[in-house]
Amino acid sequence: MIIKKCEIPIKARLLEASLCRLPATHPKRPILESELGKCMAGYRGEQSIDSVLAALPEKEYLLFHDLRIPSTPYPFQLDILILSPSFFLILEVKNVAGEIYFDDDFHQLIQTKYDQARAYDDPILQVNRQRTELLQWLTSKKVPILPIETLVVSANSLTIVRAKNKEITEKVVRKNSLALKINSLAQKHQEDILSKKELKKLTNLLLKAHTPYVPKLLEIYKISADELLTGVQCPNCRALPMKRKWGKWHCQSCSYCSSDAHLAAIRDYALLIKPTITNRELRDFLRLDSVSIATKMLRNMHIPYEGTTKSRVYHLNWRDFY
Ligand SMILES: [Zn+2]
Repeated sequence: MIIKKCEIPIKARLLEASLCRLPATHPKRPILESELGKCMAGYRGEQSIDSVLAALPEKEYLLFHDLRIPSTPYPFQLDILILSPSFFLILEVKNVAGEIYFDDDFHQLIQTKYDQARAYDDPILQVNRQRTELLQWLTSKKVPILPIETLVVSANSLTIVRAKNKEITEKVVRKNSLALKINSLAQKHQEDILSKKELKKLTNLLLKAHTPYVPKLLEIYKISADELLTGVQCPNCRALPMKRKWGKWHCQSCSYCSSDAHLAAIRDYALLIKPTITNRELRDFLRLDSVSIATKMLRNMHIPYEGTTKSRVYHLNWRDFY
């Protein structure tokens, strides 16, 4: 049963929003585009595992995607955590194309694609570290300790996986043989240690502890908010800015017209700039002259606010705009 589903990463949402609002010639675009590509490959890899996991017996396994649990000194993050009454399993998912070689001499993953080699951090070390961190966290929460298994999953079925060491081949699994591997782990750990009630309690503990990371994208890539293009973007051709006429947004490039294109702009504002907005700030960002139209828009969106009419501050949650 999927308890926490696989969602598009917040970082990808932020990268998309910033790419929509940076001029075509902005020097930071290539790096943001490359980051977005990596982020989405990771997401698609994890998503593709779901079809394999869906074939597992529904009641026995509880699945969590992308948990991020606060810990000392840093939070730890798990791609996929699977709970069962007899063992836990952490999956570290790699969606890397070409050929991958697990080099245990230098603890690196070497990808070779189009005759070019590239090194990544050793995912086996990563997943083992996550195991230690999860174990510490479970101990601190006084959860009965179960065997914690770890696996690195290669999500791309075309990727050639190589390793010279038997211990590594035990720890790395291709997506197509994941269900088989989980079944063999279930055979190894047959004794139920946690009751249904204890599993439910642990599920709630994990969901409560989960703290998503919202990176300060503009700060990280040293982009000033002034560099972002303002205005409502055309949903059809992506041109900026649309013009407000007769209660609708009109695109000056492709003549497309929309009644709610401003919602995406407000979402971009909440993601990239800040989670609060005033009537003035909304008008500046949407390039809208009319106070009353802005007031009506904010009222129609039922956004929570504080303060009286003049100094009213609206609290935005970007998740409401997808
Ligand atoms: Zn257009």
